[in-house]
Amino acid sequence: MTRLLVAGGTVVDPVAGTAAPGDVLIGGDRIAAVGTLDAGDAETLDARGLLVLPGLVDMHVHLREPGYEYKETIATGVAAALAGGFTSVACMANTEPPNDSAAVTQYILDRARVAQGARVYPIGALSLGLKGERLAEIGEMYHAGIVAISDDGRPVTDAGLMRRALEYSRMFDLPVIVHEEEQHLAAGGAMNEGVTSLRLGLGGIPAAAEEVMIARDVALVRLAGGRLHVAHVSTAGAVQLIRDAKAAGLAVTAEVTPHHLFLTEEAVEGYGTNAKMAPPLRTRADVAALRAALADGTIDAVATDHAPHHHDEKDIEFDHAANGIVGLETALPLALRLIAEGVLDLPTLVARLTTGPARILGIPAGTLAPGAAADVTLVDPERRWRVEARSFRSKSRNTPFEGWEMTGRAVAVFVGGRLVHDDRPAATPALRSAS
Ligand SMILES: [Zn+2]
Repeated sequence: MTRLLVAGGTVVDPVAGTAAPGDVLIGGDRIAAVGTLDAGDAETLDARGLLVLPGLVDMHVHLREPGYEYKETIATGVAAALAGGFTSVACMANTEPPNDSAAVTQYILDRARVAQGARVYPIGALSLGLKGERLAEIGEMYHAGIVAISDDGRPVTDAGLMRRALEYSRMFDLPVIVHEEEQHLAAGGAMNEGVTSLRLGLGGIPAAAEEVMIARDVALVRLAGGRLHVAHVSTAGAVQLIRDAKAAGLAVTAEVTPHHLFLTEEAVEGYGTNAKMAPPLRTRADVAALRAALADGTIDAVATDHAPHHHDEKDIEFDHAANGIVGLETALPLALRLIAEGVLDLPTLVARLTTGPARILGIPAGTLAPGAAADVTLVDPERRWRVEARSFRSKSRNTPFEGWEMTGRAVAVFVGGRLVHDDRPAATPALRSAS
């Protein structure tokens, strides 16, 4: 069995809430020990100056396969994940065909196995064909390996269907992930409704479009039970509804994207269609509320909503451009910036990128405890680099962060003890031979 000592790094334990110098021993595909360790007969990887994190978890990505391979494939998506430090990703069901059956779930898992990148956890459709009419084959998909259900990309407009989804999901303890957007309020909107949309002459989507749906679904959790997970929260009012639901003891969790933590509606002027997403970028006050909620635990996870699109779908007028941006390769340095800006500390941030999403999905990730799978991300917190979309592993280039100067990068990533991404300066032969 190959044994590798990751020596002298700063080991972050999101469960204990600590970040301290230490060593991690990888034995085969498992974590063998953590602490102050002797190399013994193990090979050594010099991790001085690096952060040693449990492999990051992104609970919200769009891998586009099957059906939209011109935007992304499972292979390019999981390579982008590794380059960003993510060892586990959960992929949404809005493919073509949608993942609403065990056959499609199995197809995704088969493609992921071949790709040998980050681990892939499929999310099943909530409704057949994502049509919002009848429940999908949730039981069959559960047995095939889904970790949640969601019609993400679309809201569940029928409250009766949403009630049944919450009731039915309880049998499998699956979270129900919701894209909260009241379609009549959002109709005709392309960005946040406010002074900027007025000035630009673009249709607006009010904060209330998100908030009325969260209020409805919190009421349905009270009625039906189940676990509600609110995707990509974007408004201060939404944060308050989630905070109140948690305080009332309801099983409600939430995620926020890096772009909603760093950009406001004003980005639409400077970045064009790469600032178009659903929900839209909001106001400065919303960003402040999201950041506070991430720090205090109201928001459980940072998730990218990685949404690759072909340039033909973005290089058109704003009203008609596709929603969303790629996020896997820029999330980590943006997240680290939150520490520099005093929003939260390193162990808390790592928890939102590991244990937070892993617990919601019920997946065995986010820990460096002995016996756990050796999914490990080494981060150089001082590495400076400039975002150049053309060098992304992702097939798509739709990012508003082009040209941003970043500090911090994943420099080595292990999945199941295998070195699957290595971006360290060349002269470190020990690690290369250990792979
Ligand atoms: Zn969504």
